[in-house]
Amino acid sequence: MQKKYANCLHVCKKYTIFAAIFSFDTYTMELPFAESWKIKMVEPIHKSTRKEREEWLRKAKNNVFLLRSEQVYIDLLTDSGTGSMSDRQWAAMMTGDESYSGARSFFELKDVITSLTGFKYVIPTHQGRAAENVLFSHLVKPGQVIPGNAHFDTTKGHIEARKAFAIDVTCDEARDTQLEAPFKGNVGLEKLEKVLKENEGNVPFMVLTITNNTVGGQPVSMANIKATCELCHKYGVPVNMDSARFAENAYFIKTREPGYADKSIKEITKEMFSYVDSMTMSSKKDGLVNMGGFIATNKEDWYEGCKQYCIPFEGFITYGGMNGRDMAALAVGLMENTEFDMLDTRIRQVQYLASKLDEYGIPYQRPAGGHAIFIDADKILTKIPKEEFPAQTLTCELYLEAGIRSCEIGYILADRDPVTRENRFGGLDFVRLCIPRRVYTNNHMDVIAAALKNVYDRRESITRGLKIVKEAPLMRHFTVELERL
Ligand SMILES: *Cc1c(COP(=O)(O)O)cnc(C)c1O
Repeated sequence: MQKKYANCLHVCKKYTIFAAIFSFDTYTMELPFAESWKIKMVEPIHKSTRKEREEWLRKAKNNVFLLRSEQVYIDLLTDSGTGSMSDRQWAAMMTGDESYSGARSFFELKDVITSLTGFKYVIPTHQGRAAENVLFSHLVKPGQVIPGNAHFDTTKGHIEARKAFAIDVTCDEARDTQLEAPFKGNVGLEKLEKVLKENEGNVPFMVLTITNNTVGGQPVSMANIKATCELCHKYGVPVNMDSARFAENAYFIKTREPGYADKSIKEITKEMFSYVDSMTMSSKKDGLVNMGGFIATNKEDWYEGCKQYCIPFEGFITYGGMNGRDMAALAVGLMENTEFDMLDTRIRQVQYLASKLDEYGIPYQRPAGGHAIFIDADKILTKIPKEEFPAQTLTCELYLEAGIRSCEIGYILADRDPVTRENRFGGLDFVRLCIPRRVYTNNHMDVIAAALKNVYDRRESITRGLKIVKEAPLMRHFTVELERL
């Protein structure tokens, strides 16, 4: 009896240990990741037939910018001004103050910008390129040199239109699309120093673009931001941060750079801006609004200079091309998009699409960028020579396949050399799949990946590209007209 009891105790003990190891906790499934928002309003989208798309693309001269949006099923042309606003942003719009000067909405926006960036002077503009226009009108003179980590197209346009020179000083890592490096948007410090040394006295400022859009939405590390600014300041050159995706950049610093894991996004953005002298902003990106931009700085002389150009080009200095209600929505958007959960949702969606492309073996700029996947067209359409624009050809193929509108970020966008007027084939030739903020679900990502796989599978049969028949002297990609060869 005693033995029996002991046995029983033994079994009980065993069971307790068993239960402790394989407790219900252990069996509880880890919950999968999901969006940090739910959908309150929807907009229907429509499919089309291949025959319709062939006709539409022909009429659009093989330039997807010239398509009508109804002719597009999933629109990945850009993440600029294409995001969904939150209920709080819409609510804020109702409170916009439309006073011509001194509007409350302006001061509320200014306070938010100051809290995120530390800059006390703020000039609103109607979008990012308008901010560039105003600041560069004050700063850029013919013959000057402005280094930067891959100037965005409008930035380059505003420099070259003033007969100054934009010199790319992006790190070499960015050029190897298959290299997995955490901060491929970084400035190549040796390249930068060479430009600063050779052009002493002729560099009005440097442009530091975060994230580095042109090389694939790749981030710049805090260490590189700091080192770049120290170097520029050593040569007496101020730094302007082209900040369209500053919050996404902060997300990558938090998740990839040692020492930042426990800092909030808002703490990180504040540190990023503490090193630079000014910022130009396209609010259509990380501001989560459909239109808007601004300049911010602590340099009083720049602020005074900008005021002179803001008034004739944009409007009075407390609205600069924006409605009061739009400034109100922007103030809320900036606060929302500097929350970790919002950025985590967004960037994980981009990474989800990347994981699908990995499954199919489709080459893109690695690792996935913050706002987009940049497909390496040169590596896919290997039969098409540079002169026939592989990335533009792939952009057309993807549209014909499934009505998906992407965007060429390659040889057409690179424009011609302002001096020789030759095409610039020195850079990378990408098709950008740009993901709007809070717009599509992962089911849409699955459709995009499948369509791309279909094109990829028949890549060997795509042997002829495109020929330019009409182009503008600057920023030609928007209006270029092409013919199939
Ligand atoms: C979009 C963008 C700009 C220009 O801003 P707009 O609002 O389109 O005029 C400038 N720089 C970068 C890095 C951008 O992504």
